Amino acid sequence: MSADRIDGKAFAGGLRERLAATVPAFTAATGRVPGLAVVLVGEDPASSVYVRSKGKATVEAGMASFEHKLPADATQAELLAIIDQLNRDDAVDGILVQLPLPKQLDEQTVIAAIDPDKDVDGFHIANAGRLAVGQPGFVPCTPLGCLMLLKDRIGDLSGLEAVVIGRSNIVGKPMAQLLLGESCTVTIAHSRTRDLPAVVRRADIVVAAVGRPEMVKGDWLKAGAVVIDVGINRVAGSEAGKTKLVGDVDYASAAEVASAITPVPGGVGPMTIAVLLRNTVVAAHRRAGLAPPAGL
Ligand code: NAD
Repeated sequence: MSADRIDGKAFAGGLRERLAATVPAFTAATGRVPGLAVVLVGEDPASSVYVRSKGKATVEAGMASFEHKLPADATQAELLAIIDQLNRDDAVDGILVQLPLPKQLDEQTVIAAIDPDKDVDGFHIANAGRLAVGQPGFVPCTPLGCLMLLKDRIGDLSGLEAVVIGRSNIVGKPMAQLLLGESCTVTIAHSRTRDLPAVVRRADIVVAAVGRPEMVKGDWLKAGAVVIDVGINRVAGSEAGKTKLVGDVDYASAAEVASAITPVPGGVGPMTIAVLLRNTVVAAHRRAGLAPPAGL
């Protein structure tokens, strides 16, 4: 068997087009476009690339992008002052503080300062709580993107066995909550799980969010499982001095057993920015007292 390749890049492209199509009606109703503010502290190269691509995608969707850059030695008070200003700025619907932050800054305090109704990353404790009790809020972009791919592939997830590998607040835990919300039977596996291959083997859905290159092997999988690979790991490539990206799943062996699998790159990665824009459009509508457009 050779698994179908779940094309996250194509799905994300379609979502971004649908989002752009909602902007004119929002503007007609409110006289403005949805706005996303991204705050970057320091000059970490990977973070700078992410911030640039978020800004570009926001503008491409017909939305307003606001970038705030602070030096690497910025104080907590300086960062909190910017967040306060963005919380009060009506043109800003979504606020994202690019993580990780330099070590003099406390991430929890910074996230807690963001207005939960503008917290399009879904990291605020109020949004984690809303997700846990099933109230509308904001869900972290990567796991919500994974859920969209799963529902697109499978349809109704009710009753399926799902194993999420990883228990981070950003991916693993919200992913498990989302799958529970879809009435899956959910297991969260992590670094202390005993006999991980046996746990994974009972899953109809496997979501790997570990950060270990190609850890999950094909012979861990149940035949026909749907596999979502969140991992982004940079490893040495076949050419000397070159690196390449691989996921947490050994694609070649997994594709022999699974029915469908996301590639790395081109699977979950492109979904994250598309869902960030989706959350911003939803935030803009809620803040304006409008119903968020259907089908997002
Ligand atoms: P994290 O380091 O916060 O969490 C990793 C989790 O894996 C932990 O909960 C840990 O218990 C578990 N783990 C570690 N070793 C394990 C083992 N041997 N067996 C079972 N579980 C083990 O990482 P994260 O932020 O959740 O990210 C996970 C991966 O997803 C990383 O590769 C990251 O780069 C990637 N990621 C991708 C996107 C995207 O947009 N595609 C977004 C976020 C994270």
